[in-house]
Amino acid sequence: MTEERKNSGEPFENERSTEKIVSSENMFSEKPTLEDIRSLQEEFSAERNWNQYHTPRNILLALVGEVGELSEIFQWKGEVKVGLPEFTEEEKKHVGQEMSDVLIYLVRLADRCKIDLPAAVLQKFEQNRHKYPAKKVYGKSDKYTAYE
Ligand SMILES: [Mg+2]
Repeated sequence: MTEERKNSGEPFENERSTEKIVSSENMFSEKPTLEDIRSLQEEFSAERNWNQYHTPRNILLALVGEVGELSEIFQWKGEVKVGLPEFTEEEKKHVGQEMSDVLIYLVRLADRCKIDLPAAVLQKFEQNRHKYPAKKVYGKSDKYTAYE
């Protein structure tokens, strides 16, 4: 993607591509993959004999708790800017920690429900491309039912 295209704010031409299309300068590290996270958590739980507690419902409730902890950091701050410039380094580190808790529990939930999460994510993007065709919805925030 050219710099021009990246900064234009226009929708991508190739909406069906699942190849890496990045519209932001912020890129994640390649590791760990979701499978790495699934496997690390499985090992972590097995080492502690915690699998017995990791039922789908229990993990879902733990996930919701972690979303609450993440939300707490943003609570009462009003709207915050992209990149969190108003946050201290300590607060940003805390945000990353709570996001990690959320991700780890989400991946664990998928594992305990026997759902292939990366495959489900790709299917979801495919569905969303149909629900929200870029040409129709460009710059609009309406729900998909508004475009039917
Ligand atoms: Mg936490």
